[in-house]
Amino acid sequence: MTRDSAGGSGEDGYSVVYDLDPDCTAEDVEKGPAYRSEINGVVEYGVFVDLSENVSGLVHESVLDGTYRVGQELVVELEEVRENGDMAFRPVDADLETAEVRTVPHDYALTGTDRLGANVGEQIHLEGEVIQVKQTGGPTVFHVADESGIVPCAAFEEAGVRAYPAVAVGDVVRVTGVPEHREGDVQVEVDGLSTLDGEVASEVRDRLAKALAARAEPHDVEPLIEWPAFEKLRPELEEVARLLRRTVLEGRPIRVRHHADGDGMCAAVPVQMALERFIADVHESADAPRHLIKRLPSKAPFYEMEDATRDLTFALEDRARHGQQLPLLLMLDNGSTAEDVPAYETLAHYDIPIVAIDHHHPDPEAVEGLLDAHVNPYLHGEDYRITTGMCCVELARMIYPELGAELRHLPAVAGLSDRSKADAMGGYLALAAEEGYDESRLQDVSEALDYAAFWLRYDPGDRLIRDVLGLEVDDGTRSRELVSLLADGARGAVDDQLEAAMAHVESESLENGARLYRIDVENGARRFTYPAPGNTTGAIHDRMVAETGDPVITVGYGPDFAVLRSDGVRLDIPEMVSELQEEVPGAGVSGGGHLVVGSIKFVSGKREETIDALIEKMGAADIDEGLSTAVPIDD
Ligand code: MN
Repeated sequence: MTRDSAGGSGEDGYSVVYDLDPDCTAEDVEKGPAYRSEINGVVEYGVFVDLSENVSGLVHESVLDGTYRVGQELVVELEEVRENGDMAFRPVDADLETAEVRTVPHDYALTGTDRLGANVGEQIHLEGEVIQVKQTGGPTVFHVADESGIVPCAAFEEAGVRAYPAVAVGDVVRVTGVPEHREGDVQVEVDGLSTLDGEVASEVRDRLAKALAARAEPHDVEPLIEWPAFEKLRPELEEVARLLRRTVLEGRPIRVRHHADGDGMCAAVPVQMALERFIADVHESADAPRHLIKRLPSKAPFYEMEDATRDLTFALEDRARHGQQLPLLLMLDNGSTAEDVPAYETLAHYDIPIVAIDHHHPDPEAVEGLLDAHVNPYLHGEDYRITTGMCCVELARMIYPELGAELRHLPAVAGLSDRSKADAMGGYLALAAEEGYDESRLQDVSEALDYAAFWLRYDPGDRLIRDVLGLEVDDGTRSRELVSLLADGARGAVDDQLEAAMAHVESESLENGARLYRIDVENGARRFTYPAPGNTTGAIHDRMVAETGDPVITVGYGPDFAVLRSDGVRLDIPEMVSELQEEVPGAGVSGGGHLVVGSIKFVSGKREETIDALIEKMGAADIDEGLSTAVPIDD
């Protein structure tokens, strides 16, 4: 701030006198202009004057003339600032009665969170929105987001006592403090923190909103391969990338739920990695990625109430204990069907946005009002062949394009895991081959994922799964050996299972000419081990297709469930489920999945009736002419 001194000093003295606001600091004082001050001490060698609460200095007796008393007003100008910061003033000729008095507000020159590292140890000001308030055993930590990032600001009242209790998440604040290094992070030690309101606050909000919108923009990346069918989904994936980047910038946590199979993991892990890296860029505190993104597998092919209530409980506890916002829920390779509705409706009572990217046959009417974004190839006249893993590798690149080469083999793993017969598979396999993944190695990764997912159960197994996927590995040889070990384990377990189970497979001919194989997996296969009923049924099905050719349907059933696989028959499992609900009263039929691969549930007392009705429907289904339909394996 440059003050007008030229017009001031003259024969008639200064015509303008400046009056500092109480919060002004030494930086607001310049040489030249006249300042109003008040004497606060009289000593032998001069008088001490206050220009504001923070600005004081000495007027030396050598430049004084007359007698002075405490409380008396004196107009002074800055003579010098000594090396130790002490300020010396001298009186000037000015008449406060006639001079124009101008107030000087404190110049809150803001230091963006991106420049804190360069200002360690110096007092700075910053303005931003409070996105989290965490009470520790020591200070209260306010996480403040400005145009360029998010920084923890520690305010100490008393150990474990909430500082600035009136300040809440969502408030716009001005922080005065000193950036310090703390365990590798930069943290601001708060000297003062005030909530802004009125016009000042809305100005700050506007500024933040503009910056945030610009920074949320996804990166414009070329898809890994050219694929016209995928182009239809690309604008929506960009929209999701924008939404997720925005969520990170707002400091909101993200919880990823994914189908616990190969495609689901090839979808969730890259997105998780992209978000982790973006979070690390946005936040000054190094442990932010660990707190703000969590990936969890879902055992069921839909969002179970058990998972939803668990997610909600964690979210509410994190809010209560760590002052976090409620999370955004990202459903991957899961979440498009009516079966997801009860769980979604539970979360709808809270501020928890939900995004689903899935390629299971969707029920858009059921989920529409509950989702903030819904990407599914069926909504564009495409189908499951565009797997969720293929979509999400592109999504991860839109969020964080530096994640590039290491992801290039993942769409092929995803496609093989779900047996996608997409045109793009050739391109994806070629891409993987460039990275050293031939088809048999990709197949190994796919089976290793399945095997690991089974034993991990509800655990995300972050490091293990990254090792299997060859992501962020520190030892490539170990990663390859691990994949071989797990893939061999999976194959051995399938062989053992089939050796027992094949003796229990019954076969019959359906009216439409398809072969039906059925097995009671409860009594004819080993339980509570790999492969589970779904994969056991799939393995039997594959073997029968290889032996006899299609059309083939395989049903693996237990007391209250049945798993279906089919090749060469045009089934519509979601449609069959809704028909069975009508036709077999009291069976409590539910379920779904893909058109030709899925699972249904029913009450055990109605098993015979339900399965008979199901088989009748299968016998009435059309047979595919020509080549066998592509059959995804996940259930
Ligand atoms: Mn899938």
